[in-house]
Amino acid sequence: MSKRIVIIGGGVIGLCVAHYALRRGHRVTVLERGAADHDSCSLGNAGMIVPSHFTPLAAPGMVALGLKWMWNPESPFYVKPRLSWELASWGVKFWRAATPEHVRRAAPLIRDLSFASRACFEELAALPGFDFGLKKRGLLMLFKTARTLHEEAHMAAQARALGIPAEVLDAQAVAALEPGVRMEIAGAVLFPQDCHLAPHRFMKDLQRAVSSAGGEIVFDSEVTGWRFDSRKIFAAQTAHGEIDGDEFVLCGGAWSANIARELRLALPMQAGKGYSLTLPQPRQLPRHCAIFAEARVAVTPMASALRFGGTMEIAGLNERIDPRRVRGIIQAVPRYFPEFSPDDFAGLHPWSGLRPCSPDGLPYVGRTRAYENLTLATGHAMMGLSLGPITGQLIAEIVSGEKPAHDLALLDPDRYA
Ligand SMILES: Cc1cc2nc3c(=O)[nH]c(=O)nc-3n(C[C@H](O)[C@H](O)[C@H](O)COP(=O)(O)OP(=O)(O)OC[C@H]3O[C@@H](n4cnc5c(N)ncnc54)[C@H](O)[C@@H]3O)c2cc1C
Repeated sequence: MSKRIVIIGGGVIGLCVAHYALRRGHRVTVLERGAADHDSCSLGNAGMIVPSHFTPLAAPGMVALGLKWMWNPESPFYVKPRLSWELASWGVKFWRAATPEHVRRAAPLIRDLSFASRACFEELAALPGFDFGLKKRGLLMLFKTARTLHEEAHMAAQARALGIPAEVLDAQAVAALEPGVRMEIAGAVLFPQDCHLAPHRFMKDLQRAVSSAGGEIVFDSEVTGWRFDSRKIFAAQTAHGEIDGDEFVLCGGAWSANIARELRLALPMQAGKGYSLTLPQPRQLPRHCAIFAEARVAVTPMASALRFGGTMEIAGLNERIDPRRVRGIIQAVPRYFPEFSPDDFAGLHPWSGLRPCSPDGLPYVGRTRAYENLTLATGHAMMGLSLGPITGQLIAEIVSGEKPAHDLALLDPDRYA
């Protein structure tokens, strides 16, 4: 049965939900607060599709790392100390979740969703109207020290045990893969199943596909409230009036908890700010996307440009740029790619985006039991682009009344209720 689906938020998750819901014959309206040319976390990210990222952010060692780096504003992971009940409660939940048992339970699901999403990207790339520069060349996790080699080799072994191919390479083997880039590294782990793409092109293609399939994307439409009773949502309220529907899907990224506040859902969420800088004419252009392992900086070729992205800054719901954190990214680049210099970045305007972060590092995907027609698709943190298409497909199955193709118990949006 065709339903009227109202999607709140036009980031990659909202648009993927729209695309797959339209493919199942539903009528779709996306309400997006921003203008048609608005920016969002989905545009300036590193563009990586990452089966290699099978551990959630809440993993053993992350709390200690966060505490260590708390005192260094140029570090890759930074929690800005502030008096906030929500932050404190999120922090406690994060600490509780960061156990080996959580990683053991979550990794197979993340792996399955990542591979399923990768297959969706391959399918989308073959559709007419989609041309987002998908490159299936793998990801290089570059490291400089013997200690990181040890850690990354252990990670690679864990990946292989889960069925995710991973190969440890010495510096010579990496140089053979990237003959055009001089690197100062000890080696790398190659994850051959990872891919990269140009996220702004993917977003454009999705917008066009949604519109041409009859979906409506209403820009400048901030959802400011709801009409609802104790069991059901009737309409989303915007400055232009109420939008009613049969089903509502919340895809508001880092703002989701705020948007849902009136509905009294327990949806712990913090914004994890990250930055990126894109060199339009880099000195050297790698063929693979890569991560500088010690510095936690992502590097992605996008056509002839090269994007560097990184940092996770838990500092509230704002997109203000902290130059110290941008400096942390810029200074890491010549340590791995010595042909580059901090001067290469002079005059570039850094981009910032807010990752929606749940405390256990897993997204909220599924129906809430609080309302019979409200579904959530948010909290994807560092993997929102990567998991976008499979999330869209799962939500389309759910709103169509079908059993989702994956067991989503771990992603239950009511798990903190
Ligand atoms: C530096 C950096 C690098 C990254 N690299 C990668 C990567 O390589 N691979 C990967 O998979 N992920 C990556 N990510 C993460 C990824 O970008 C996010 O997980 C993803 O974009 C989240 O998508 P979203 O649709 O949930 O949120 P968003 O893109 O933030 O979209 C939410 C939308 O909701 C709208 N909205 C908010 N409030 C309202 C309201 N009240 N009414 C209507 N609309 C509203 C917003 O305007 C926004 O457009 C990276 C992130 C950063 C910061």
